[in-house]
Amino acid sequence: MSSSNTENSERSEDSLNIDRQQGEQQERVEESATSSLQSVATGMQPSVPACAAGVTASEIFENNLRDILRCKICLALRRTTLYLCQTGHLICASCLAHLLTDAQLCEETPKCPICQKDISIPVRNIAAELAISELPSNCRFCNEKFPHGSLDHHERHECQDSPVACKYSRIGCKWFGERKEASDHERNCEFLSKTPEEIAATLETIEVDYDSKHDEIERIFQSLMYSLNSERTLCVDLQLMCYCNNHQLFYTTTDFHAFNELWIIRARLNNQNDTDPANVISFSYQLVLKTEPRSSLMVQFVALKGSRSDIKISMQLYKHVFTPTSLESHYCALPLTDCNDCIQLLAKKGTKIRIMLSLLD
Ligand SMILES: [Zn+2]
Ligand SMILES: [Zn+2]
Ligand SMILES: [Zn+2]
Ligand SMILES: [Zn+2]
Repeated sequence: MSSSNTENSERSEDSLNIDRQQGEQQERVEESATSSLQSVATGMQPSVPACAAGVTASEIFENNLRDILRCKICLALRRTTLYLCQTGHLICASCLAHLLTDAQLCEETPKCPICQKDISIPVRNIAAELAISELPSNCRFCNEKFPHGSLDHHERHECQDSPVACKYSRIGCKWFGERKEASDHERNCEFLSKTPEEIAATLETIEVDYDSKHDEIERIFQSLMYSLNSERTLCVDLQLMCYCNNHQLFYTTTDFHAFNELWIIRARLNNQNDTDPANVISFSYQLVLKTEPRSSLMVQFVALKGSRSDIKISMQLYKHVFTPTSLESHYCALPLTDCNDCIQLLAKKGTKIRIMLSLLD
């Protein structure tokens, strides 16, 4: 898919900013559908009364813009990745995922429900995503409106109602409260009048936490070095092929050899029958042993981005002990980096992934 390759390589800071916001508030739905939406969906001008008392021109403009930027299928305004059909209808990631899934299940070409044009090659609309990111949103804490781009800064650094810790938290104060009350507390914080001995005693208890974190990192590093030095780690490039069974979509790879056994990867789409477009699309996968092991095998595995694949996967390690009575790992999250990766996976018949396996003691 050359269009998405170019798009990925040309990602501006703004689009990365959108991704970050998506991570935090993916699928935050702004408003429910109102009667003026119906006119937008049918292509007519929204009927906002221009001279309504107390409504400023900029509010009217903002409302019109919200209506234009709604998904033309679910009619919600979504801070997620957005797509276009060939005609130009705006479709949110969640509605597109449902359309692609249904088409795969019926073995048909996915079509835009409004104009019936083919949508099998998703085209992203970054301009609409950026426009939505500029629309004002309410602060989670004080409920005041801010341009979406500055909301994060306001919530983290300025909002007087947002929760903060005492500035002496590093020497042990556990006070936590609203920003507007922090300076009063800090002026009288009991840690200001503590003796160095008392502070040292508190610090000792805090350092236990740091030590255990350090030990954990050390342990992971040792186990990584051990795996890399032995012949107990291998990488396999596989293709996830989609198939349909009992009106559900599944994915599977071909068999592969590792540690003298035969294995396979299976994947599935979560919440397939959930028709609520506010729910985020996600995948999970499992490692399956196809041969019966002579002894138990403790295997650590991680799914990674395949060679020449656009689909990015975040690194998440899983572990399973395979025995003659436990030949399948549980289904673990396939952590795709954003909804556009889910859409790309759904839109393709075969997706390349790489699996790294290590045999542990
Ligand atoms: Zn939608
Ligand atoms: Zn269309
Ligand atoms: Zn606020
Ligand atoms: Zn304090």
